[in-house]
Amino acid sequence: MTEARAYLDWNATAPLHPAAREAVLRALDTVGNPSSIHAEGRATRALVEEARAAVAALVGGEAENVVFTSGATEGINAVLKQGLSGCCGKELASAMPVLASATEHPAVFAAAPHAGLLPVDAEGQLVLPELQRHLAQTGPALVAVQLANNESGILQPIAEIAAIVHAAGGALMVDAVQAPGRLPIDIAALGVDVLLLSAHKFGGPKGAGAMIFADSRTRLASAGLAGGGQERGQRGGTENVPGIAGMGAAARVAASLEAVQSLIHLRGEFESHLKRLAPDAWIAGEAAPRLPNTSFFAIPGIGSDKAMIAFDLAGVAVSSGSACSSGKVKASRVLDAMGAPDWAQAGAIRLSIGPTTTEAEIGRALAVVGRLVARRSVSNHPAEKSAANSSAA
Ligand code: PLP
Repeated sequence: MTEARAYLDWNATAPLHPAAREAVLRALDTVGNPSSIHAEGRATRALVEEARAAVAALVGGEAENVVFTSGATEGINAVLKQGLSGCCGKELASAMPVLASATEHPAVFAAAPHAGLLPVDAEGQLVLPELQRHLAQTGPALVAVQLANNESGILQPIAEIAAIVHAAGGALMVDAVQAPGRLPIDIAALGVDVLLLSAHKFGGPKGAGAMIFADSRTRLASAGLAGGGQERGQRGGTENVPGIAGMGAAARVAASLEAVQSLIHLRGEFESHLKRLAPDAWIAGEAAPRLPNTSFFAIPGIGSDKAMIAFDLAGVAVSSGSACSSGKVKASRVLDAMGAPDWAQAGAIRLSIGPTTTEAEIGRALAVVGRLVARRSVSNHPAEKSAANSSAA
């Protein structure tokens, strides 16, 4: 009998939660257009509005300030390309300069290729005096900072960043994609002007997301998608009702934060055993505040390409920190920005877990690490090294 695979790549996408699946299926069977005023339309509208309330509750916001999108990529593009208005008591033109932390998701740099780069320190956290220095040069700016990094799980001090950005007359966009179900989120306490979510990262379906504005005055300077006036005129087009309904159901589950203790326990198990197997292992942001579900690590002498193959053959799905394009392995931008040593950039592996992850799955990942470390010891053995040297000569 073949053993089931161990899916430990939840930061890439989370499995669909059964409650979200049920909500999607129910929504697929509604016939009305949510903009129609007849009973069928009103029934479909009710599903959208229930989901809007659940998504607002997930981030401590108001339902009227939630705009549904196709995901965080769309939200990032809409905010950075259209700009915000009515924010911080000011009209902010779309021409406002953009500043972005060096560890943002690639969508930020693709949507705002001229964004000023805000450096992070060796623990992956934004260097606040550098933010102040950039703002002194640019004047009011639209600043993009993630709540939690998708590769490392490292958290940013958003409330402190918001205070600095607002004191300079700017606005703050926060990509909170990796936070639901792992951290409490309170848009007002964080001081965020607009926050972005993607449903599939917390148990909802792929292709649904939301922009959540801090208050009812703040909005896109012009519609992200011009159309029939849906979503308060911010995003035209008939709503993706099954996606939205599934996102709402997943938001209700994530808001309970019921899995956090198990995530803390299992990630702790993994990292303590990792350190026992390889005391020289490096863990990104080990001393920084991090998501409870993510471990981004490297072991000297073990490249991520070989490690990825070993994990996959053993039935364990993880990610590597380096992206392969045209046959060349490119280092992760996140690790580069943190100034991680070359060997860590070449060997980084991300393990990210979720509410249904088990001790047995963590055990299978550790067994792979154990085999990789054993093989490393053999290939580093002096006898083997001298054989390799003589054959190379
Ligand atoms: N931001 C972060 C931190 C992410 O991890 C992702 C997904 O990889 C995105 C944005 C983009 O989300 P989506 O591809 O669902 O639009």
